[in-house]
Amino acid sequence: MSETPTFQPRSTLVLFSGGQDSATCLAWAMSRYERVETIGFDYGQRHNVEMDARLKVRDGMAAVLPHLSDRLGPDHVVDLTGFGRIAESALTADRAIEMGERGLPTTFVPGRNLVFLTYAAALADRRSLDVLVGGMCETDYSGYPDCRRDTLDAMQQALSLGLDKPVPIETPLMHLTKAETWALADDLGGPALVDLIVEESHTCYTGDRTHRQDWGYGCGVCPACELRAAGFDRWRKGLAG
Ligand code: ZN
Repeated sequence: MSETPTFQPRSTLVLFSGGQDSATCLAWAMSRYERVETIGFDYGQRHNVEMDARLKVRDGMAAVLPHLSDRLGPDHVVDLTGFGRIAESALTADRAIEMGERGLPTTFVPGRNLVFLTYAAALADRRSLDVLVGGMCETDYSGYPDCRRDTLDAMQQALSLGLDKPVPIETPLMHLTKAETWALADDLGGPALVDLIVEESHTCYTGDRTHRQDWGYGCGVCPACELRAAGFDRWRKGLAG
């Protein structure tokens, strides 16, 4: 009786925005997979800070994880400015960051992760990469329904059916608090990785790179800064979890 060979993923494409979460995911992926490539999306973000942060975090990653640096392959940037024009939000247009009428923050870009994952799956197929990795998280409520594991399970099924092969979507941060995400970075790469994420990753919605806080650069008051700051504080006090 012949056995079906077990699917043994060896390579991955990381959805990499240059923020704290995707930087931690990149280190996590490098610790697990022999070949790691990154994909980023230019969807007309209202500042270029994120795109700059991506390159700095990627370059720094090879330096702080030298034993894994030969696993890090090419970066790919996809132009989705056409999508950004359709799906305008406070991230892509000059609008205030607040709660909108459907109970969703104005930073919500409708369908964003679904579009990103579709492009990522197409690229991964062409590059023969086995798994998609993303930093989506439903623990610290962000109000983004496309970050929920239920949405990603459905997307994984749709992509696997549509491409007629397994398209696993791994989300290592899904059930971690922001404090636990800092702790994970510390586990993966020690203080050097934490310092890289503090110094070079960018999370602030307003693109502020002038105010240096304990936890990195940012305005300190937007929802993304508040989450990052509170998580960092809890982790530093040994309260991860
Ligand atoms: Zn901010």
